[in-house]
Amino acid sequence: MNYDIIITGGGLAGLCAARQLKQSGLSVAVIEKKEYPFHKVCGEYISYEVWDWLHHLGLNIQELNPSNIQNLQITSPSGKIKLSAPLDLGGFGISRYTLDNFIYEQNLKVGVQFYLNTTVENIYFENNTFYISTQQGQMLTAKYVIGSYGKRSNLDRILNRPFFYKKTPYIAVKYHVKYDFDKNTIALHNFDEGYCGISAIENNQHCLCYLTHKKHLKKHKSIPEMEKNVLCKNSFLKDIFTNAEFLWDTPETINEISFSPKNPVEQHIFMVGDSAGLITPLCGNGMSMAIHGAKIASEILIQAFEGRISRKQAELLYAKQWRKHFYSRIAWGKRLQHLFGNTTLTAFSLMTLKHSMPITRWLIKQTHGSKISL
Ligand SMILES: Cc1cc2nc3c(=O)[nH]c(=O)nc-3n(C[C@H](O)[C@H](O)[C@H](O)COP(=O)(O)OP(=O)(O)OC[C@H]3O[C@@H](n4cnc5c(N)ncnc54)[C@H](O)[C@@H]3O)c2cc1C
Repeated sequence: MNYDIIITGGGLAGLCAARQLKQSGLSVAVIEKKEYPFHKVCGEYISYEVWDWLHHLGLNIQELNPSNIQNLQITSPSGKIKLSAPLDLGGFGISRYTLDNFIYEQNLKVGVQFYLNTTVENIYFENNTFYISTQQGQMLTAKYVIGSYGKRSNLDRILNRPFFYKKTPYIAVKYHVKYDFDKNTIALHNFDEGYCGISAIENNQHCLCYLTHKKHLKKHKSIPEMEKNVLCKNSFLKDIFTNAEFLWDTPETINEISFSPKNPVEQHIFMVGDSAGLITPLCGNGMSMAIHGAKIASEILIQAFEGRISRKQAELLYAKQWRKHFYSRIAWGKRLQHLFGNTTLTAFSLMTLKHSMPITRWLIKQTHGSKISL
Protein backbone atom coordinates (compact mmCIF):
# COMPACT_ATOMS: atom_id res chain seq x y z
CA MET A 1 0.00 0.00 0.00
CA ASN A 2 1.13 3.54 -0.68
CA TYR A 3 0.30 6.57 1.51
CA ASP A 4 1.16 10.26 1.50
CA ILE A 5 2.41 9.91 5.07
CA ILE A 6 3.20 6.95 7.27
CA ILE A 7 3.41 7.52 11.01
CA THR A 8 5.54 5.06 12.92
CA GLY A 9 4.18 4.82 16.48
CA GLY A 10 0.71 5.74 17.69
CA GLY A 11 1.33 7.58 20.97
CA LEU A 12 0.15 11.15 21.44
CA ALA A 13 2.61 12.57 18.91
CA GLY A 14 1.65 10.10 16.19
CA LEU A 15 -2.08 10.19 16.89
CA CYS A 16 -2.29 13.99 16.84
CA ALA A 17 -0.16 14.32 13.71
CA ALA A 18 -2.28 11.66 11.97
CA ARG A 19 -5.48 13.53 12.77
CA GLN A 20 -4.25 16.91 11.57
CA LEU A 21 -2.74 15.52 8.36
CA LYS A 22 -5.84 13.47 7.56
CA GLN A 23 -8.08 16.47 8.20
CA SER A 24 -6.05 18.40 5.63
CA GLY A 25 -6.89 15.77 3.00
CA LEU A 26 -3.76 13.58 2.97
CA SER A 27 -3.75 9.79 3.04
CA VAL A 28 -2.29 8.75 6.39
CA ALA A 29 -1.45 5.42 8.01
CA VAL A 30 -0.35 4.86 11.61
CA ILE A 31 1.66 1.77 12.46
CA GLU A 32 1.44 0.87 16.16
CA LYS A 33 3.00 -2.20 17.69
CA LYS A 34 0.31 -2.57 20.36
CA GLU A 35 -3.49 -2.57 20.36
CA TYR A 36 -5.55 0.18 22.03
CA PRO A 37 -6.34 0.65 24.84
CA PHE A 38 -3.12 0.04 26.74
CA HIS A 39 -1.27 1.47 29.72
CA LYS A 40 1.95 3.46 29.46
CA VAL A 41 4.54 4.56 31.98
CA CYS A 42 3.70 8.26 32.29
CA GLY A 43 2.72 10.66 35.09
CA GLU A 44 -0.50 11.53 33.18
CA TYR A 45 -0.44 15.23 34.00
CA ILE A 46 -0.83 17.28 30.80
CA SER A 47 -0.14 20.98 30.67
CA TYR A 48 -3.04 23.20 29.49
CA GLU A 49 -0.66 24.35 26.77
CA VAL A 50 -2.41 21.87 24.45
CA TRP A 51 -6.03 22.05 25.67
CA ASP A 52 -7.34 24.53 23.07
CA TRP A 53 -5.38 22.84 20.31
CA LEU A 54 -6.87 19.40 21.09
CA HIS A 55 -10.36 20.93 20.97
CA HIS A 56 -9.45 22.67 17.72
CA LEU A 57 -8.62 19.20 16.31
CA GLY A 58 -12.17 18.15 17.27
CA LEU A 59 -11.11 16.23 20.38
CA ASN A 60 -13.44 17.10 23.22
CA ILE A 61 -11.25 16.03 26.14
CA GLN A 62 -13.75 17.36 28.65
CA GLU A 63 -16.03 14.40 27.94
CA LEU A 64 -13.33 12.10 29.39
CA ASN A 65 -13.80 13.80 32.77
CA PRO A 66 -10.16 14.75 33.43
CA SER A 67 -9.02 16.30 36.69
CA ASN A 68 -8.06 19.98 36.82
CA ILE A 69 -4.63 20.53 38.36
CA GLN A 70 -3.61 24.00 39.50
CA ASN A 71 -1.09 23.51 42.29
CA LEU A 72 2.32 21.95 42.71
CA GLN A 73 3.70 20.47 45.88
CA ILE A 74 7.33 19.31 46.22
CA THR A 75 8.74 17.52 49.24
CA SER A 76 12.32 16.81 50.31
CA PRO A 77 13.61 13.20 50.52
CA SER A 78 12.78 12.99 54.23
CA GLY A 79 9.38 14.63 53.73
CA LYS A 80 10.32 17.30 56.26
CA ILE A 81 10.37 20.23 53.81
CA LYS A 82 7.30 20.92 51.70
CA LEU A 83 7.09 23.56 49.01
CA SER A 84 3.73 24.58 47.56
CA ALA A 85 3.31 26.79 44.52
CA PRO A 86 0.54 27.63 42.07
CA LEU A 87 0.97 26.34 38.53
CA ASP A 88 0.43 29.43 36.41
CA LEU A 89 -0.86 27.56 33.36
CA GLY A 90 -1.90 24.36 35.18
CA GLY A 91 -2.86 21.10 33.58
CA PHE A 92 -5.32 18.24 33.46
CA GLY A 93 -5.04 14.63 34.55
CA ILE A 94 -6.17 11.76 32.37
CA SER A 95 -4.81 8.24 31.94
CA ARG A 96 -2.98 7.35 28.76
CA TYR A 97 -5.18 4.26 28.62
CA THR A 98 -8.23 6.50 28.14
CA LEU A 99 -6.67 9.41 26.25
CA ASP A 100 -4.73 7.52 23.56
CA ASN A 101 -7.68 5.19 22.98
CA PHE A 102 -10.05 8.16 22.66
CA ILE A 103 -7.90 9.84 19.99
CA TYR A 104 -7.45 6.52 18.20
CA GLU A 105 -11.24 6.03 18.02
CA GLN A 106 -11.80 9.62 16.87
CA ASN A 107 -9.10 9.15 14.22
CA LEU A 108 -10.82 6.03 12.87
CA LYS A 109 -13.91 8.17 12.33
CA VAL A 110 -12.01 10.62 10.10
CA GLY A 111 -10.46 7.81 8.06
CA VAL A 112 -6.94 7.40 9.40
CA GLN A 113 -5.72 3.92 8.47
CA PHE A 114 -4.28 1.94 11.41
CA TYR A 115 -1.99 -1.05 11.40
CA LEU A 116 -2.21 -2.36 14.98
CA ASN A 117 -0.17 -5.13 16.57
CA THR A 118 2.30 -4.23 13.85
CA THR A 119 5.95 -3.39 14.50
CA VAL A 120 7.98 -1.37 12.03
CA GLU A 121 11.09 -3.37 11.34
CA ASN A 122 12.95 -1.22 8.84
CA ILE A 123 12.68 2.12 7.03
CA TYR A 124 14.71 3.17 4.05
CA PHE A 125 14.53 6.08 1.66
CA GLU A 126 15.23 5.77 -2.06
CA ASN A 127 14.20 7.79 -5.13
CA ASN A 128 12.08 10.19 -3.09
CA THR A 129 10.07 7.33 -1.55
CA PHE A 130 10.13 5.68 1.88
CA TYR A 131 9.93 1.89 2.07
CA ILE A 132 8.69 0.54 5.39
CA SER A 133 8.76 -3.12 6.27
CA THR A 134 7.00 -4.59 9.28
CA GLN A 135 7.77 -7.61 11.43
CA GLN A 136 4.42 -8.97 10.27
CA GLY A 137 5.65 -9.10 6.68
CA GLN A 138 4.02 -6.04 5.08
CA MET A 139 5.87 -3.59 2.83
CA LEU A 140 4.36 -0.08 2.73
CA THR A 141 5.49 3.02 0.87
CA ALA A 142 5.06 6.74 1.52
CA LYS A 143 6.30 10.11 0.41
CA TYR A 144 7.00 11.25 4.00
CA VAL A 145 7.49 9.42 7.29
CA ILE A 146 6.97 10.69 10.81
CA GLY A 147 8.99 8.95 13.52
CA SER A 148 6.79 9.01 16.63
CA TYR A 149 7.86 5.75 18.17
CA GLY A 150 8.77 7.16 21.59
CA LYS A 151 11.87 7.26 23.78
CA ARG A 152 13.65 4.19 22.52
CA SER A 153 12.82 1.61 19.92
CA ASN A 154 14.33 -0.99 17.62
CA LEU A 155 14.18 1.78 14.99
CA ASP A 156 16.81 3.84 16.80
CA ARG A 157 19.24 0.97 16.29
CA ILE A 158 18.22 0.62 12.63
CA LEU A 159 18.78 4.36 12.15
CA ASN A 160 22.08 4.11 14.07
CA ARG A 161 21.23 6.93 16.45
CA PRO A 162 24.17 7.47 18.88
CA PHE A 163 22.09 7.70 22.09
CA PHE A 164 20.87 4.12 21.56
CA TYR A 165 24.31 2.73 22.39
CA LYS A 166 24.77 4.68 25.65
CA LYS A 167 23.62 2.85 28.78
CA THR A 168 21.42 4.92 31.08
CA PRO A 169 20.80 4.39 34.79
CA TYR A 170 17.10 5.28 34.88
CA ILE A 171 14.08 3.08 35.45
CA ALA A 172 10.47 4.16 35.87
CA VAL A 173 7.48 2.54 37.54
CA LYS A 174 3.79 3.42 37.41
CA TYR A 175 0.58 2.46 39.24
CA HIS A 176 -3.02 3.60 39.35
CA VAL A 177 -4.20 3.96 42.93
CA LYS A 178 -7.10 5.18 45.02
CA TYR A 179 -5.78 7.59 47.61
CA ASP A 180 -7.14 10.48 49.58
CA PHE A 181 -5.22 13.38 48.02
CA ASP A 182 -6.31 16.78 46.69
CA LYS A 183 -7.52 16.42 43.09
CA ASN A 184 -6.25 19.87 42.11
CA THR A 185 -2.64 19.31 43.19
CA ILE A 186 0.23 17.43 41.64
CA ALA A 187 2.81 16.36 44.23
CA LEU A 188 6.41 15.52 43.50
CA HIS A 189 7.95 13.59 46.36
CA ASN A 190 11.72 13.29 46.26
CA PHE A 191 13.76 10.41 47.55
CA ASP A 192 17.38 9.30 47.20
CA GLU A 193 18.17 9.63 43.46
CA GLY A 194 14.60 9.74 42.35
CA TYR A 195 11.22 11.41 42.49
CA CYS A 196 7.66 10.18 42.52
CA GLY A 197 4.66 12.12 41.20
CA ILE A 198 1.07 11.69 42.25
CA SER A 199 -1.92 13.44 40.69
CA ALA A 200 -5.58 12.79 40.03
CA ILE A 201 -6.84 11.27 36.78
CA GLU A 202 -10.39 10.22 35.78
CA ASN A 203 -12.71 7.96 37.83
CA ASN A 204 -11.49 9.08 41.27
CA GLN A 205 -8.13 7.48 40.68
CA HIS A 206 -4.60 8.83 41.02
CA CYS A 207 -1.58 8.12 38.89
CA LEU A 208 1.52 7.28 40.95
CA CYS A 209 4.68 7.25 38.87
CA TYR A 210 8.36 7.44 39.76
CA LEU A 211 11.78 7.63 38.15
CA THR A 212 14.85 6.32 39.91
CA HIS A 213 18.34 4.89 39.56
CA LYS A 214 18.54 1.19 38.71
CA LYS A 215 21.21 0.66 41.40
CA HIS A 216 18.41 0.74 44.00
CA LEU A 217 16.62 -2.11 42.28
CA LYS A 218 19.86 -4.04 42.01
CA LYS A 219 20.55 -3.58 45.70
CA HIS A 220 17.04 -4.34 46.98
CA LYS A 221 16.32 -7.08 44.41
CA SER A 222 12.60 -6.34 43.90
CA ILE A 223 10.35 -3.34 43.30
CA PRO A 224 8.41 -3.73 46.60
CA GLU A 225 11.66 -3.98 48.60
CA MET A 226 13.08 -0.95 46.81
CA GLU A 227 9.90 1.02 47.54
CA LYS A 228 10.00 0.02 51.21
CA ASN A 229 13.70 0.79 51.72
CA VAL A 230 14.24 3.79 49.45
CA LEU A 231 11.01 5.60 48.56
CA CYS A 232 9.36 5.19 51.96
CA LYS A 233 12.11 7.19 53.64
CA ASN A 234 10.01 10.13 52.49
CA SER A 235 7.13 10.25 54.99
CA PHE A 236 4.64 11.30 52.26
CA LEU A 237 5.54 8.27 50.14
CA LYS A 238 5.39 6.02 53.18
CA ASP A 239 1.83 7.17 53.73
CA ILE A 240 0.93 6.50 50.08
CA PHE A 241 2.51 3.03 49.98
CA THR A 242 0.85 2.16 53.31
CA ASN A 243 -2.63 3.57 52.80
CA ALA A 244 -3.36 3.76 49.07
CA GLU A 245 -5.39 1.07 47.34
CA PHE A 246 -3.24 -0.25 44.46
CA LEU A 247 -5.47 -1.11 41.51
CA TRP A 248 -3.10 -3.36 39.55
CA ASP A 249 -1.37 -6.58 40.56
CA THR A 250 1.91 -5.45 39.00
CA PRO A 251 3.07 -1.98 37.93
CA GLU A 252 3.98 -0.83 34.43
CA THR A 253 7.77 -0.47 34.21
CA ILE A 254 10.37 0.77 31.73
CA ASN A 255 14.15 1.10 31.72
CA GLU A 256 16.89 2.63 29.55
CA ILE A 257 15.37 6.11 29.66
CA SER A 258 17.77 8.44 27.89
CA PHE A 259 17.82 12.23 28.09
CA SER A 260 20.63 12.49 25.51
CA PRO A 261 20.14 14.91 22.60
CA LYS A 262 18.60 13.56 19.39
CA ASN A 263 18.11 15.02 15.93
CA PRO A 264 14.62 16.23 15.01
CA VAL A 265 15.18 15.04 11.43
CA GLU A 266 16.95 11.73 10.90
CA GLN A 267 17.52 10.26 7.43
CA HIS A 268 14.62 12.42 6.09
CA ILE A 269 12.26 11.17 8.83
CA PHE A 270 10.47 13.89 10.82
CA MET A 271 10.97 12.89 14.46
CA VAL A 272 8.16 14.01 16.76
CA GLY A 273 7.59 13.60 20.51
CA ASP A 274 10.07 11.56 22.51
CA SER A 275 11.72 10.31 19.29
CA ALA A 276 12.92 13.89 18.78
CA GLY A 277 13.98 14.50 22.38
CA LEU A 278 12.86 13.63 25.89
CA ILE A 279 12.30 16.19 28.63
CA THR A 280 12.91 14.98 32.20
CA PRO A 281 9.61 13.72 33.63
CA LEU A 282 9.72 16.01 36.65
CA CYS A 283 8.70 18.86 34.31
CA GLY A 284 5.43 17.10 33.41
CA ASN A 285 5.72 18.41 29.87
CA GLY A 286 6.59 15.53 27.56
CA MET A 287 3.02 14.99 26.40
CA SER A 288 2.33 18.63 25.62
CA MET A 289 5.64 18.79 23.74
CA ALA A 290 4.70 15.66 21.78
CA ILE A 291 1.34 17.19 20.79
CA HIS A 292 2.86 20.59 20.04
CA GLY A 293 5.68 19.01 18.02
CA ALA A 294 3.11 17.05 16.01
CA LYS A 295 1.38 20.31 15.11
CA ILE A 296 4.62 21.95 13.98
CA ALA A 297 5.66 18.94 11.87
CA SER A 298 2.19 18.54 10.34
CA GLU A 299 1.92 22.18 9.33
CA ILE A 300 5.28 21.99 7.58
CA LEU A 301 4.42 18.70 5.86
CA ILE A 302 1.15 20.19 4.63
CA GLN A 303 3.12 23.06 3.06
CA ALA A 304 5.42 20.51 1.40
CA PHE A 305 2.44 18.58 -0.02
CA GLU A 306 0.97 21.81 -1.35
CA GLY A 307 4.23 22.30 -3.24
CA ARG A 308 5.06 25.52 -1.40
CA ILE A 309 8.37 24.17 -0.04
CA SER A 310 10.76 21.43 -1.10
CA ARG A 311 11.63 18.37 1.00
CA LYS A 312 14.95 19.96 1.92
CA GLN A 313 13.31 23.23 2.96
CA ALA A 314 10.70 21.32 4.98
CA GLU A 315 13.39 19.40 6.87
CA LEU A 316 15.43 22.52 7.63
CA LEU A 317 12.36 24.45 8.73
CA TYR A 318 11.18 21.67 11.02
CA ALA A 319 14.58 21.26 12.68
CA LYS A 320 14.75 25.02 13.22
CA GLN A 321 11.21 25.27 14.63
CA TRP A 322 11.69 22.23 16.85
CA ARG A 323 14.83 23.70 18.40
CA LYS A 324 13.18 27.09 18.84
CA HIS A 325 10.25 25.64 20.76
CA PHE A 326 11.79 22.82 22.75
CA TYR A 327 15.56 23.03 23.06
CA SER A 328 15.63 25.39 26.02
CA ARG A 329 12.82 23.54 27.84
CA ILE A 330 14.71 20.26 27.59
CA ALA A 331 17.93 21.91 28.82
CA TRP A 332 16.12 23.43 31.83
CA GLY A 333 14.52 20.06 32.60
CA LYS A 334 17.99 18.49 32.81
CA ARG A 335 19.29 21.27 35.07
CA LEU A 336 16.33 20.85 37.42
CA GLN A 337 16.79 17.10 37.51
CA HIS A 338 20.40 17.65 38.70
CA LEU A 339 19.11 19.96 41.41
CA PHE A 340 16.86 17.22 42.71
CA GLY A 341 19.25 14.29 42.25
CA ASN A 342 20.90 14.22 45.64
CA THR A 343 19.35 14.11 49.11
CA THR A 344 21.19 17.08 50.68
CA LEU A 345 21.05 19.24 47.55
CA THR A 346 17.31 18.62 47.15
CA ALA A 347 16.58 19.65 50.73
CA PHE A 348 18.78 22.74 50.33
CA SER A 349 17.17 23.69 46.98
CA LEU A 350 13.68 23.32 48.40
CA MET A 351 14.50 25.36 51.48
CA THR A 352 15.84 28.15 49.25
CA LEU A 353 12.92 28.04 46.80
CA LYS A 354 10.38 27.97 49.63
CA HIS A 355 11.49 31.46 50.56
CA SER A 356 11.56 32.78 47.03
CA MET A 357 8.28 32.22 45.25
CA PRO A 358 9.18 34.45 42.23
CA ILE A 359 12.24 32.24 41.52
CA THR A 360 10.14 29.08 41.93
CA ARG A 361 7.55 30.37 39.46
CA TRP A 362 10.26 31.48 37.07
CA LEU A 363 11.85 28.01 37.16
CA ILE A 364 8.51 26.31 36.48
CA LYS A 365 8.00 28.68 33.55
CA GLN A 366 11.35 27.73 31.95
CA THR A 367 10.17 24.15 31.36
CA HIS A 368 6.62 25.05 30.32
CA GLY A 369 5.46 26.47 27.03
CA SER A 370 2.62 28.91 26.60
CA LYS A 371 -0.76 27.97 25.13
CA ILE A 372 -0.40 26.76 21.55
CA SER A 373 -1.69 29.38 19.13
CA LEU A 374 -4.48 28.08 16.89
C1 LIG B 1 8.40 8.25 34.37
C2 LIG B 1 7.82 9.19 33.37
C3 LIG B 1 6.81 10.07 33.76
C4 LIG B 1 6.28 10.99 32.85
N1 LIG B 1 5.30 11.83 33.26
C5 LIG B 1 4.81 12.75 32.40
C6 LIG B 1 3.78 13.65 32.81
O1 LIG B 1 3.25 13.60 33.92
N2 LIG B 1 3.37 14.58 31.91
C7 LIG B 1 3.88 14.67 30.65
O2 LIG B 1 3.46 15.54 29.88
N3 LIG B 1 4.83 13.80 30.23
C8 LIG B 1 5.30 12.85 31.07
N4 LIG B 1 6.23 11.96 30.64
C9 LIG B 1 6.67 12.02 29.24
C10 LIG B 1 5.61 11.45 28.30
O3 LIG B 1 5.19 10.17 28.74
C11 LIG B 1 6.17 11.35 26.89
O4 LIG B 1 6.83 12.54 26.58
C12 LIG B 1 5.07 11.08 25.87
O5 LIG B 1 4.48 9.84 26.11
C13 LIG B 1 5.64 11.14 24.46
O6 LIG B 1 4.67 10.72 23.53
P1 LIG B 1 5.13 10.07 22.17
O7 LIG B 1 3.91 9.97 21.33
O8 LIG B 1 6.32 10.74 21.65
O9 LIG B 1 5.63 8.59 22.57
P2 LIG B 1 4.84 7.36 23.16
O10 LIG B 1 3.63 7.79 23.89
O11 LIG B 1 5.86 6.55 23.90
O12 LIG B 1 4.35 6.55 21.88
C14 LIG B 1 5.23 5.84 21.07
C15 LIG B 1 4.45 4.67 20.46
O13 LIG B 1 5.24 4.05 19.46
C16 LIG B 1 5.03 2.64 19.50
N5 LIG B 1 6.20 2.02 18.89
C17 LIG B 1 7.48 1.99 19.32
N6 LIG B 1 8.28 1.35 18.45
C18 LIG B 1 7.47 0.95 17.43
C19 LIG B 1 7.71 0.24 16.23
N7 LIG B 1 8.93 -0.19 15.87
N8 LIG B 1 6.65 -0.01 15.43
C20 LIG B 1 5.40 0.41 15.75
N9 LIG B 1 5.13 1.10 16.87
C21 LIG B 1 6.15 1.38 17.70
C22 LIG B 1 4.85 2.35 20.99
O14 LIG B 1 4.13 1.16 21.22
C23 LIG B 1 4.11 3.60 21.48
O15 LIG B 1 2.71 3.42 21.52
C24 LIG B 1 6.77 11.02 31.52
C25 LIG B 1 7.76 10.13 31.12
C26 LIG B 1 8.29 9.21 32.02
C27 LIG B 1 9.36 8.27 31.58
